[in-house]
Amino acid sequence: MIHRTDPARQAPWQVELAAAIRDPEALVRVLGLPDTLLAAAHRAHEHFPVRVPPAYLARIRPGDPEDPLLRQVLPLDLEEAPQPGFSRDPVGDLAAQVVPGVLHKYEGRVLLTATGACAIHCRYCFRRHFPYAKAHAARDHWAQATAHLATDPSIREVILSGGDPLTLHDDKLAGLMGALHALPHIKRLRLHTRVPVVIPSRVDDGLLGWLDEAPLAVAMVLHINHPREVDDAVVRACERLRAARVTLLNQAVLLAGVNDDAEVLAALSERVFEAGILPYYLHMLDRVEGAAHFAVDAARALGLLEILRARLPGYLVPRLVREETGAPAKVPVVAVGAGPGCR
Ligand SMILES: *Cc1c(COP(=O)(O)O)cnc(C)c1O
Ligand code: SF4
Repeated sequence: MIHRTDPARQAPWQVELAAAIRDPEALVRVLGLPDTLLAAAHRAHEHFPVRVPPAYLARIRPGDPEDPLLRQVLPLDLEEAPQPGFSRDPVGDLAAQVVPGVLHKYEGRVLLTATGACAIHCRYCFRRHFPYAKAHAARDHWAQATAHLATDPSIREVILSGGDPLTLHDDKLAGLMGALHALPHIKRLRLHTRVPVVIPSRVDDGLLGWLDEAPLAVAMVLHINHPREVDDAVVRACERLRAARVTLLNQAVLLAGVNDDAEVLAALSERVFEAGILPYYLHMLDRVEGAAHFAVDAARALGLLEILRARLPGYLVPRLVREETGAPAKVPVVAVGAGPGCR
């Protein structure tokens, strides 16, 4: 295995990761956006910093403040408006940690926050306030996390989430795979990641090498919100993942101004299928402070789903769900008027 701590031997994906735009002014300038956005972008960036990798940046339409890809990454003054009903830990993650970095909320599957780092910073993210520095599961070479997994034979599946697990080096990930394989009750590894979408070069021989040899079944749940996020490089990366026997699914978040439109959602399902990915979840926004301007109410969400059901084959219609603190699984959004998503 190549050790990539030497900067001269960094893999292309690591160079791209390091080359992400982290300055709101640079983002505004490089995309030719109006100066009037600058002051607010700087302020909101203080709360949750800008991060946009080059491959994602290249898909944003220059000069268009309303571009749906841009809206996911550009800090706006709307983030600082008062947001009643929106909190810093809307899904109860802090309470669900059994050991640092291990969230055991649902039966049979455990979610590891593998790292605090992401390749991109999505403004709507419910983890924007999460104290990762103390809480990620890889910090002690997975020791506490795997010790917990060993004590509970009901756990069948381990989900690596984040931050984004594919910002970790392959030797670290392969190391976890080895540790999991030693636990006979663990059958599946799942990766929740946006990296193959925003840095497709991450899907390289190093990653495919350990995935292809994985002794567990591997599912990868990608996170794609808009059909324009899937360019040819993403399609090729997905083809390689499938050749390594990885099952590909997509979860999207329903976001005002990004994908709250039946045409866009239908195009998203069709586009991800072209890349060999099946739609899995369409999440209602988690009610995290700073993201209120992305909220879509339940009535509209259900209306959009109704159109998708009429227009698409059933396997291209995602499950519309929300996360509720204390619920035994993601909660289907079923009826207008049910639950806190209605406003
Ligand atoms: C979303 C989530 C899961 C996975 O749920 P699935 O319905 O299996 O996709 C598992 N654990 C936690 C803590 C989660 O938030
Ligand atoms: S955890 Fe996912 S949604 Fe949140 S900032 Fe990272 S990549 Fe974006």
